Amino acid sequence: MAIAACYTMDLYCECLECKKPESDYQYNGGFAQYFGENWADCKSQAKAEGWSIHRDRDTCFAPGHKKFKVK
Ligand SMILES: [Zn+2]
Repeated sequence: MAIAACYTMDLYCECLECKKPESDYQYNGGFAQYFGENWADCKSQAKAEGWSIHRDRDTCFAPGHKKFKVK
């Protein structure tokens, strides 16, 4: 297996459900890891799968998790 990527991105969902102390975010889709050539490459992969990423705030939401956010 050839690995050309040199950048790793770990995504931890920041939604209320995943931020609960008892949350099993690693098993409910609140965690993901991407490999790419740089941050933007990883971000595009994550976005393609539905992740919502806010670089300025350094926060992200797993696909479909944003609905848990308080209005
Ligand atoms: Zn979440």
